[in-house]
Amino acid sequence: MSASAHCIFCKIVRGEIPAINVYEDEHTLAFMDIQPASPGHTLVIAKAHASSLLDIAESDLLAVAVTTQRIARAVQQALAPDGFRINQFNGAAAGQTVPHYHVHIVPMREGQRIGAHGRAPADRDELKALAARIRDALSP
Ligand code: 5GP
Ligand code: ZN
Repeated sequence: MSASAHCIFCKIVRGEIPAINVYEDEHTLAFMDIQPASPGHTLVIAKAHASSLLDIAESDLLAVAVTTQRIARAVQQALAPDGFRINQFNGAAAGQTVPHYHVHIVPMREGQRIGAHGRAPADRDELKALAARIRDALSP
């Protein structure tokens, strides 16, 4: 069986498990992290399965980068953080827990000290409200 059959992010792409999406195009998808490190923590993935930076197709890598900039701008406009982190982990030893290439956008506040990953699942309604604000700030 292919890697994508069991991959949780591929299941999100196929609509087999729910996600709170903020953006979708032909090659990429952006959705709220279920266990955010900070409010507005968003993930950007390529729809095609690749486990890490080592095996993602160049065209998908570029598409994810373009979508990441687009979502980061919308997060900035919607939530006005003092800054944001772009995190991307490759391999379990580096902290990667879902082996489907993805980029984290983590809004940061002045003086905030947080880890790369959240410690508890977020309230679903709060995630939906944040996603709506980010979606509203997306340029057409
Ligand atoms: P990694 O450690 O692989 O870079 O990050 C994986 C991220 O995916 C984590 O921040 C985790 O909270 C998030 N995540 C794991 N499973 C799900 C899920 O089913 N739905 C969503 N929306 N996020 C998930
Ligand atoms: Zn996958």
